[in-house]
Amino acid sequence: MTYPTLPDMDADLVDCRRCPRLVEWRERVAHEKRAAFRDQTYWGRPVPGFGPADAALLIVGLAPAAHGGNRTGRMFTGDRSGDILFAALHAVGLANQPTAVSVDDGLTLRGTRITAPVHCAPPDNKPTPTERDTCRRWLDEELRLLTPTVRAVVVLGGFGWRALLPVLGDAGWSVPKPRPAFGHGAHVELAGTRPLHLFGCYHVSQQNTFTGRLTPAMLETVLADAGRAAGLV
Ligand code: SF4
Repeated sequence: MTYPTLPDMDADLVDCRRCPRLVEWRERVAHEKRAAFRDQTYWGRPVPGFGPADAALLIVGLAPAAHGGNRTGRMFTGDRSGDILFAALHAVGLANQPTAVSVDDGLTLRGTRITAPVHCAPPDNKPTPTERDTCRRWLDEELRLLTPTVRAVVVLGGFGWRALLPVLGDAGWSVPKPRPAFGHGAHVELAGTRPLHLFGCYHVSQQNTFTGRLTPAMLETVLADAGRAAGLV
């Protein structure tokens, strides 16, 4: 399954129905809605990556949120996690504005793309290993298409870290054995045709940001380091 461009891939991705449990969940959430959004039409489909197809920096999360990306159709858009992430991207010069509320809000990212190893909202934000492995086809292809330009990756959380490392290995980078452990501030340089800087960062989940485990300053530090490694800041 290869595509000539990322937009071509994304056009197919949004119609994917390979995971029965996630298809049922994303559509049920879109139908039932949260009271605060009852007048809105939920996206209720797979959420594609967001950002330019020639990105030098890739941010890898976990999966769309039920009432965030699954509602708006754009990664991290319309939820508290996204509020934190886009404010930090704006603070370090990688986003043109600090807020993300809908696909037509004017937000653009500079040299940066955001994606996830699972493209459909999962119950309790917990995809199964089978769902992660089923969705890997999209991450494999996204990395293949980004290989000519990507220089750094920020992975938000251990789930994304563990999902991404084998993908990077198959895409041609040299992943050490044993595989490097996830941690906030982890930084590994992977050898390849062109080296890739891999950064670990706690996920921008409310569980982490409300408790202070991840502060805006911590997030901005990782994004600025990764932006420098990618030649963007
Ligand atoms: S999680 Fe991925 S593989 Fe599964 S239905 Fe959604 S887009 Fe398709």
